[in-house]
Amino acid sequence: MEKYIYLFREVDQAEKAAGSWDGVRGLLGGKGANLADMTRLGVPVPPGFTATTEACNAYLAAGGEFPEGFWDQALAAIEDLEKATDKKFGDAKNPLLVSCRSGAKFSMPGMMDTVLNIGLSDEITEGIAKTSGDPRFAYDLYRRLLHMFGSVVMDVDDEHFEHVLHQQREKAGVKLDADLGADDWKAVVKAYKGVFKQYTGEDFPQDAREQLKRATEAVFRSWNGRRAIDYRNAAKIAHDLGTAVNVQTMAFGNIGPRSATGVCMSRNAATGEPTLEGDYLENAQGEDVVAGTRATDPIQVLGDRMPDVYGELQDIAKKLESHYRNMQDMEFTVERGKLWLLQTRDGKRTAEAEVRIAVDQVEEGLITKEIAVKRVSPAQVDIFLHPKLDPEAVEGSEALATGLAVSPGAAVGQVTFHADDAQQAAKEGRAVVLVRPDTKPDDVHGMLAAQGILTSRGGRTSHAALVARQFGKPAVVGVAEMEIDLASRQFKVGETVIKEGDWISLDGTTGIVYEGEIPTVMADLDNPYLSKLLSWADEFRKLGVRANADYPRDAERAREYGAEGIGLCRTEHMFFEAERLPVVQRMIMARDPEDRDAALAALLPLQRGDFDGLFRAMDGLPVIIRLIDPPLHEFLPGHDELIKDLADLKLQLQHFRTLSEIDAALEEVRTKQRYLEQVEALSEENPMLGTRGVRLGMVIPGVVRMQVRAIFEAACACARGGVDVHPEVMIPLVMHVAELREMRAQLEEEARAVMAEQGIEVPYKFGTMIEIPRAAVTAGELATEAEFFSFGTNDLTQTTFGISRDDAEQGFLVEYLERGILPKNPFETIDPDGVGQLMKWAVEQGRATRSDLEVGICGEHGGDPESIALCHTLGLGYVSCSPFRVPIARLAAAHAALNDR
Ligand code: PEP
Ligand code: MG
Repeated sequence: MEKYIYLFREVDQAEKAAGSWDGVRGLLGGKGANLADMTRLGVPVPPGFTATTEACNAYLAAGGEFPEGFWDQALAAIEDLEKATDKKFGDAKNPLLVSCRSGAKFSMPGMMDTVLNIGLSDEITEGIAKTSGDPRFAYDLYRRLLHMFGSVVMDVDDEHFEHVLHQQREKAGVKLDADLGADDWKAVVKAYKGVFKQYTGEDFPQDAREQLKRATEAVFRSWNGRRAIDYRNAAKIAHDLGTAVNVQTMAFGNIGPRSATGVCMSRNAATGEPTLEGDYLENAQGEDVVAGTRATDPIQVLGDRMPDVYGELQDIAKKLESHYRNMQDMEFTVERGKLWLLQTRDGKRTAEAEVRIAVDQVEEGLITKEIAVKRVSPAQVDIFLHPKLDPEAVEGSEALATGLAVSPGAAVGQVTFHADDAQQAAKEGRAVVLVRPDTKPDDVHGMLAAQGILTSRGGRTSHAALVARQFGKPAVVGVAEMEIDLASRQFKVGETVIKEGDWISLDGTTGIVYEGEIPTVMADLDNPYLSKLLSWADEFRKLGVRANADYPRDAERAREYGAEGIGLCRTEHMFFEAERLPVVQRMIMARDPEDRDAALAALLPLQRGDFDGLFRAMDGLPVIIRLIDPPLHEFLPGHDELIKDLADLKLQLQHFRTLSEIDAALEEVRTKQRYLEQVEALSEENPMLGTRGVRLGMVIPGVVRMQVRAIFEAACACARGGVDVHPEVMIPLVMHVAELREMRAQLEEEARAVMAEQGIEVPYKFGTMIEIPRAAVTAGELATEAEFFSFGTNDLTQTTFGISRDDAEQGFLVEYLERGILPKNPFETIDPDGVGQLMKWAVEQGRATRSDLEVGICGEHGGDPESIALCHTLGLGYVSCSPFRVPIARLAAAHAALNDR
């Protein structure tokens, strides 16, 4: 006959039957397996038994009949409990009471949970009242059974029981249940029995075995309850697993002094410190601790009150930790000085605690470095590295709006709408959040000055998102429900109006924006535990990790975070700096080659200075510098802005009196007019598909030649000063090998000329970005001219999908994701079947042409753990991401390598 019931101490048998520990969890459920396991370890667990999930499945399949032999096995197990406890089930003098709980393989809210104190009847309750001399205790037990049995087994609405209790409290003139006396509980019991009869049509069953049988059936049935089914659908848990039922001897924490109940973690869940942490209540039953109706004591108080029990609890915590090799969250009860463990499981903890516990446990010899590295998730490191809104304060706050969470961390500040204002505020020491419809390169100074960035438009690779991540600024973008009125300096969300100067708080980890000033808690960047964990991660990873950094200070920070070079320096960002933009504009507006050369000559020393700083910060490491990429109109004022300025100027002209005033104004009109003409001449319907990237170099070679000159002049100077430089010149947006051939020839000529002038050689590489499907498809040809490839997956995703990286994330893509048409946002995680396949092909073909081809990625995906795993699989040499994501990438790369073993 099949074995449907396992005593807790029969775990070896269960293991034999199930074949593995996972099998035991399937057969006995997570809770049952765990109780049995603790019993085997010698931890004091109140004796009990588990009815298997197979019994549940058989019961349900038979339309509500226990399988043959089941109930006899259960009765035999009860006899065993009677022997073990020296008590009798259903006996008024020395009664055995049990709890009955559900427990599936995976923890599953929505099923019938718990009935305590099974085995009580009118007679037995009175018996307990007499023998214990504590009628309050006895009737309190009974009313709990009546309530739980009524509501969870018989489906009587909770409300009816609550109502009785409420009335009794009123009658007794007390606020808390704890203040009710024996007579109150007697009255409640009487009323509960009435409720039971009224709503079930029968009397509360007085027979202990009948109670247990019905409770067991209710647990089995609850597997198919609507809430349980909904939960399984949502959590993707199979519907045919079934639930087990755990029947366990009651231990009473509410049986007078030296009795208590509590919860306890084996280490501090907030900080990870290796000390017990928890709460307990003397003279209480389990649910009282969780319900929060009585103020609990910290577990250390138990150390003073019952030092022997506390010492035993400490020993057990150690034992359980070394068995499960993880921090444990335990439930316990002390009955007249005797400690019982009711449950243990891996404890939930903060990111900070996770890291510290992992490191400590390696050093204690409990786990391997590999397990420690795998246990901490990249998302936890991400949370760790950013200040966050105080979780307690957030609890009490209502969200104002929600957008895309593109750069984690908390930002709290006064609303400001203009970059210059943000910069001014920062100078004055005021905290501001820069709120814009979207941001442009000339907003960067304001973005840097602000605590965080909030935009109503833009997607995951929008300018705002990109810059925010690069500089570790918290940002929420694409908040479509936000209506910004720049003219009146306010924004609206529904009826709420937020004016300039009002405080807001935003959470770049969740994408939620709050009204008002929410306190933050700081991240710890120099945390020694994190540093150690990451150094272990480095031992495992195969991928290199570089940083996207444009400025020396970012490069230095990136290096501190462990970057092994620069994977992308976007040189155009340097062009937008306040003192340079006019020179760049002069270059674009040049009427003749001399004019242009003069502007370029003015830019040269500035660029040289930029690169010099980067090379020094990355002494000994490769620095990939990408030549100018965006369409030129981005460096000029906007078309509408010029039209408006011109109209204003013309109006003002009428009011000027002196000739010099008029002359000056006319000169400005002429200048603006010329700008307008140039803007119109440069204007394209699709600038992202227009004259940008390598195409700029092809039509105006002077700019990129100047950039290459600056790179090599700086490199030679650094090399002469003893810096180990490795410049790598990257040509963006290439679609055809012919572009690369021509561009490279010109640029290498310039580079060689500089080295000849300087009389020093530096090692260098020329390479290209793969950002266009045609480039990926013809990678074998491109590799004849490129010594390295870097996947620009922002553009490659845009061009492969044919969707705009600037618009899609507030447009149809949202709906596509909601409807599951696309499984993931392709701008966040590389699309493995499309973009990923192009990358795979490009890597293979590129390496077939040039076996030592260096291959990496510098799109935003380079900091996304799932994309990093793909890059590992494709055999890339490195990933490059913003400095703040470098630690995350180091860990994610280690995970990818470990999962590959
Ligand atoms: C890319 O396209 O992935 C890339 C890194 O370049 P950018 O984002 O500057 O276009
Ligand atoms: Mg690009």
